[in-house]
Amino acid sequence: MQFDFETLTADPDRLRAGLEAADPATLLLVLVQLTGDASWLHEARPFVRGPFNYQEEMPDELRGRIREALFKTVNDFAATGREVPAIPDGQLLRDMMSFAAADELSDDYAAMMREDLNADIRDPGKFEWRTEPPRERVEDFQVVIIGAGVSGIYMAIRLLEAGIKFTILEKNETVGGTWLENRYPGCGVDTPNHFYSFAFAPNHEWSEYFAKREELWRYLEDMAERFDLKQYIRFGVEVDEARFDDETAQWRLTTTGGEVVEGDVLVSAVGILNRPKMPQIEGLESFAGPSFHTARWDESFDWHGKRIAMIGTGASGQQVGPAIADDVDRLMVFQRSPHWVVPNPNYHADVADGKKWILKHLPYYLRWYRFQLFWGFADGLHAALEIDPEWSDPEHSLNQVNARHRHFMERHIRREIGDDPELLAKVIPDYPPYGKRILIDNHWFRTLTRDNVDLITDDIARIVPEGVETTDGTVWEADALVLATGFEASKMLSPMKVYGRGGQEIHDVWGPNDARAYLGITAPGFPNFFMMNGPNTALAHGGNQIFMAECMVWYTMQAIRELIEGGHQTLDCRQDVHDRYNEIVDERHGRMVWTHPGMTNWYRNEAGRVFAVSPWRLVDYWRLTKEFQPEEYLVA
Ligand code: NAP
Repeated sequence: MQFDFETLTADPDRLRAGLEAADPATLLLVLVQLTGDASWLHEARPFVRGPFNYQEEMPDELRGRIREALFKTVNDFAATGREVPAIPDGQLLRDMMSFAAADELSDDYAAMMREDLNADIRDPGKFEWRTEPPRERVEDFQVVIIGAGVSGIYMAIRLLEAGIKFTILEKNETVGGTWLENRYPGCGVDTPNHFYSFAFAPNHEWSEYFAKREELWRYLEDMAERFDLKQYIRFGVEVDEARFDDETAQWRLTTTGGEVVEGDVLVSAVGILNRPKMPQIEGLESFAGPSFHTARWDESFDWHGKRIAMIGTGASGQQVGPAIADDVDRLMVFQRSPHWVVPNPNYHADVADGKKWILKHLPYYLRWYRFQLFWGFADGLHAALEIDPEWSDPEHSLNQVNARHRHFMERHIRREIGDDPELLAKVIPDYPPYGKRILIDNHWFRTLTRDNVDLITDDIARIVPEGVETTDGTVWEADALVLATGFEASKMLSPMKVYGRGGQEIHDVWGPNDARAYLGITAPGFPNFFMMNGPNTALAHGGNQIFMAECMVWYTMQAIRELIEGGHQTLDCRQDVHDRYNEIVDERHGRMVWTHPGMTNWYRNEAGRVFAVSPWRLVDYWRLTKEFQPEEYLVA
């Protein structure tokens, strides 16, 4: 038998309690899959709404029948030992996906969904040779990875599986990247965990739906331990420059310590939100008290009873503020521009034990649940990002869906703030939703209504030793200054220098803040160089950066396979392929929210070109990276 129905049914009370705690719409999908009976879908469809409400408002009677039918079904599997039906296909799969998404889904999703549904049986990212290459060729091959965060770790796991040698150079003392470095109070993820985890390594034990940094870091640390990766990682080693040698076709890296490391392939997994952006504010250095960036939080700092000035109200600021507001004497929040924020009923919720148990034991439950999250937090939002050229209110929204989301978010903000027109005017953005990174409401608005919290929207004139001086002449006296001012996203790969063919440095090729790459992964003139989280691969509307990492690593592993199996020295992206791809990316962005003039964001450069975020639906990027096409490369 493929699944362990005996453990699932061994304790009927446990099973019933689990089914009670689980989501009925997800249970229904499992039931349909295990029985092939699609009539459940039609009966329950009217009660399933989305994409924000990815679960449903189903009558109790129907919920009860679903649980009962599933209870009987799994017991029958346990008693008979029969095989579960094959992964659904065709119309049934389309109907199930449409039900899960509460939307009419096209066939675009079928292949990806089938792969994920099968993931408990066959690892979807598993590396396989097409034709076994000569052993010496594999043994002689060496990959150098820079960075041991999410994508570096995942790349390493796949290389290990392929038996290809690699070294990871990591500037920190251990693994985890972002989830290691960001230690500010309240730090956590705003993509739901059951989606924000590797497809091949689900964690059934997430304590919350949106875990905090410690648990996320632990998940990555566990990956490193499970695959015994640390023996391949050189910690505390920072790369100064990487240089491609035209003669030997080797990448030669020099560390800040002067050491040289060489490899056939270079993978940069350094992340895009890694280098803190310090605000250009006069007198910043003059502040008398402690002052630090959120990503460099001073863990010895005790904020209790202190007056805190915090600059910035993005994803980091909105996590810090509510986490410390209770304890501080005063929190002065300096907001330059407001963010759109969406409520989520699970944002502060723990995952019930019964649900954890079902996630672990009920076949396919986790996979359908992931798909519901995938839709609600990623592809289901795409319709809200597209500019309708005929739209009547282009300043405030983009299209009908976007306007509906705006209305929903605005109503939430009004409810949270209550009768305070002055504060409402400060926090409701003018620009369309999704123009900046969409945030989940972390009790942000309630925090702003507290007596000990001020939201200051006057421009900052300068920092003085006592605090922050605004342009109206007020000095906001503070004991500590928190800079929640974001990252140097536009200086991709910096401060590292990367020299390709003929000694050209990648930042010279890109020019100021205009990084480009094919699929965000490869750049012409930089053979055998693969970027994880390169240009136009970040996600701003929701999404899941782990999913993106899986796609990028899958693509890169195929390229490496092509090199080794083909006995090639180099793969160098063709200029025309690269240019055409970037034209399409730009053209798509021209029709999307991030080029809207109504707001600033970290996704575009001074010229207005969007260089950071992806214009694709996740399913598009999955398809684009699915098959490595050697003809798109100069092969030598
Ligand atoms: P951010 O979104 O770039 O926000 C920076 C904030 O600082 C903005 O409010 C910005 O104002 C303000 N700011 C910057 N320079 C300023 C100046 N000189 N004067 C006044 N205000 C200034 O940075 P972040 O909050 O660190 O988030 C960055 C990204 O990291 C996010 O978009 C997200 O992708 C990721 N992130 C995710 C999570 C999560 O998963 N929960 C948590 C943290 C970060 P303007 O908006 O006016 O520029």
